[in-house]
Amino acid sequence: MSEQPYQRIDLHTHSTASDGKLSPAELVALAAQENVQTLALTDHDTLAGLPAAHEAALQQGIRLINGCELSVAWQKIPLHMVALNFAQDDTQMLRWTEHNQTVRLQRGRQIADLLRKKGLPDLFDKAVAEAGESQLGRPHFAKVMVQEGIVKDVNKAFDHYLGNKKIGQIRDVWPQLEEIVPQLHAAGIELVLAHPKRYPITVTKLKAIVTDFKKLGGSAIEVASGNERPDHVRFLERLSRDFELQASVGSDFHGPFGPWTQVGRYTQIHEQEVTPIWYKW
Ligand code: AMP
Ligand code: MN
Ligand code: MN
Ligand code: MN
Repeated sequence: MSEQPYQRIDLHTHSTASDGKLSPAELVALAAQENVQTLALTDHDTLAGLPAAHEAALQQGIRLINGCELSVAWQKIPLHMVALNFAQDDTQMLRWTEHNQTVRLQRGRQIADLLRKKGLPDLFDKAVAEAGESQLGRPHFAKVMVQEGIVKDVNKAFDHYLGNKKIGQIRDVWPQLEEIVPQLHAAGIELVLAHPKRYPITVTKLKAIVTDFKKLGGSAIEVASGNERPDHVRFLERLSRDFELQASVGSDFHGPFGPWTQVGRYTQIHEQEVTPIWYKW
C-alpha cells in the first residue's frame, strides 16, 4: 500500500463530538505532531467540536478548516457528504446538523427495536449513555454490545448486527441529496462526496450519484480516504476529472484503533492530475 508518510493536508477527521476517540484538542495536537498544516474537523452531523479545535489550532499553529460529515441519502442509499469551509454559525449548517441529530436519536430507537426483535436486550439507554455528549451512532451500539458480552469486538457487532445490510430496513431517514445540496451550495458551502468507493453500489449507480451531486451543486469528491486501495484512488481521480469536480483527501481518522489510518495519512494521490479543493485556500 503506497502511503504518503508526511502528508500535510487532512480534510476528514473525527473527534469525541461524534464517534472519534480523541477530544478536538487532542486531535489537533496529534495532527500538529504529525506535521499536518491544514486540518478539517468533520464530525458526523455536529459542529460541537469546532470551537475547542480552533482554540487548540491557534496554540499549535495549524490551520483549521470548519467541517462536518453529513449523513444524506440518494434514492434510499445512505451516503456521507463532507461540508467544508463554512462559518461556525452558518444558519444552514446549524439547521441541517440539528435536523440530523434528531434523526440520529429516532434512528437509535429504531436500531434498538430491530436488535430486540433479533432477541437482544433493549440497548437504547445504554447506547445513549455511551454516547454521552457525542452524536449517537452505530459505533456506540457496537461498544455496548461488546460490554454486554453479545459480541467479541466492534467489528463483529457491525458484521452481525449493525452493517448496512443488517439494518437495511432503516434506510430512508436522512435528508435527500436533492433537498440538502442546493441549499448548502446556495449558502456558499463546499460539498465533498465522501469515500465514494465505500458504498456497496455498482459503478453505474455511483456515476448516477456523482452526476446528480454535481448538477445539484456539489464541489468535489474524496479521491483518497485513509488506506484506500491505490487502484480505487486512480479510479476516483479519473472520476473527478471526468465530472469536472475538485478533489479532496482525508484520513477519516477516528482514533488509534480499528481500520483507521493515522491523522494526516492516506493513500498517495496524483495531485497534478486533479484539481485539489485546498489549492484556493
Ligand atoms: P452511523 O454514523 O451511526 O451510521 O455509524 C457509521 C459509523 O460507524 C462510521 O462513520 C464508522 O465510524 C463506523 N463504522 C462503520 N463500519 C464499521 C466497522 N466495520 N467497524 C468499526 N466501525 C465502523
Ligand atoms: Mn464515524
Ligand atoms: Mn463516512
Ligand atoms: Mn468519516
